[in-house]
Amino acid sequence: MVRDVSGREYLDFVAGAGSLNYGHNDPDMRDALISHLEQRGMSHSLDLSSSSKSAFLRAFESLVLLPRDLDYRVQFTGPTGANAVEAALKLARKVTGRTNVVAFTNGFHGVSLGALAATGNRHHRGGPQIPLPGVTRMPYDGYQGAGVDTADLLARMLQDPSSGLDAPAAILLETVQGEGGLNVASAGWLRRIAELARSSGALLVVDDIQAGCGRTGSFFSFEPYGIVPDLVVLSKSISGYGLPMALLLIRPEFDVWQPGEHNGTFRGNVHAFVTAQVALTKFWSDPTFTDEVARRADLLAVRLAEVADVVPDAVVKGRGMMRGVDVGSEELASAISRRCFGNGLMLETAGSHDQVVKVMAPLTTSDELLNRGMDILLAAAQSVGTGQSVGARRSVGPARDVLGASGLVPA
Ligand SMILES: *Cc1c(COP(=O)(O)O)cnc(C)c1O
Repeated sequence: MVRDVSGREYLDFVAGAGSLNYGHNDPDMRDALISHLEQRGMSHSLDLSSSSKSAFLRAFESLVLLPRDLDYRVQFTGPTGANAVEAALKLARKVTGRTNVVAFTNGFHGVSLGALAATGNRHHRGGPQIPLPGVTRMPYDGYQGAGVDTADLLARMLQDPSSGLDAPAAILLETVQGEGGLNVASAGWLRRIAELARSSGALLVVDDIQAGCGRTGSFFSFEPYGIVPDLVVLSKSISGYGLPMALLLIRPEFDVWQPGEHNGTFRGNVHAFVTAQVALTKFWSDPTFTDEVARRADLLAVRLAEVADVVPDAVVKGRGMMRGVDVGSEELASAISRRCFGNGLMLETAGSHDQVVKVMAPLTTSDELLNRGMDILLAAAQSVGTGQSVGARRSVGPARDVLGASGLVPA
C-alpha cells in the first residue's frame, strides 16, 4: 500500500516496475538497514571488500548459485540495470572480438547508448539523435504469429554467409519481455536460441533485470528451461528494498576483464548489500516461498482471465507474477489504468502500443489484497471495456507519468 499526500491509500501493483518484489518497507530489511546505520556501518566503500558485501556474496552463492548448480563470477556494475547491460555487451564483445549483437523485437534493455541500441522501442530510441550501431534486430518468439518459428530465421541467417548478419558477439534476450508487453518465449525457442548462440560462437546473455528475482516464479526466469546463459544481468529487485544495485553474472571462462578495466564509483552500494542479503536469506532459504508465489500466480492468472472475458478480443499474457491483459489498444489500456488509479489501484501499461495492462503486484501480496486489486481491475475493465462512461478517454502517455506527478509515498 502507498499513501498520497492527502492520505488516500493505493494498492501498488507497479511495485517499482519490478524493483519491489517483496513489497514496500519489508520490516526485516528495514531493521537490518537501520541497525547498519546505527552501528555507523560504511555507506560507501567504492568497489572494495566490506563485511556487507561479503555477507551478500556468501548468501548469493549458498542460496542462489549452489542450489542451482550454477557457476558464475559476480561483477558489481554501476547501480542501474542499464549499467549492467552495458557491462555485459562490452564483455561479450571483448571475449569474442566481434561487434554485432543480436537483440529482439520489443526487447527493453535500458536507455544508455549501448543498451538503447539493443532496445526496440522507438520512443526511447528517438532520444539521442545519433546512430545506435552494433545491433541486429531479429523477431522474438511469436512475433510473426503462432505458426512461425522465428528461431528458424535466425538459424538460417547465421548459416548463410551472404545473409548480411555479422557474426554476433552476443545474443541478448529477456525470457519474458517486461516493457515489451509480457511476451513469453517458449521453452523450445529458448533452447534453440541457446544452441544457436553456442554454435555461432556468441555469448548467450539473459537480461533478467525484470523477470528475475522470483518474478516469474523461480529465482532466475530461465531455470525451468534447462538453459545456462553465459552472462546474466540482474538489477531491479536484487537489493530487495528498492535500493539501486545491479550485477552481472559471468561464466568463469568469460571473465577476461583486466583489473579495474570496467570500473565505476558506485559499484558497491553498501546499503543495498545489507538489504539484499536479508532478502535472500529471508525468502530464498525457504522452499515454501516459491510454492506460495506459484499458488498466487495461479490465482492471478484466473483473475486476469476474468478481466480478459469482459474486453472483446483481450488476451492474458505473461508468466508467474509477471502478467497482464492485452486489451488491444493504448486507448483502452490507458482508460482502464486511469479508472483503476481513481479507485485506488496503481498499475502500468506495457507493449509496443502500450496496449497491455500490466500487473506487477509484489510476490508477497496477500490473497486478500491481490483479490481486492483484481476486483478493482475487473470493475474498471467492465465499465471501460463495454464502453460505459470512461471519464477522460484520451490517450495521454504512460501511466508512470501520472504516478510521477501524484506525490505518492509508501504507506
Ligand atoms: C528496467 C530494465 C532495464 C533497465 O534498467 P534501468 O535500471 O532502468 O537502467 C533493462 N532491462 C530490463 C529487462 C528492464 O526491465
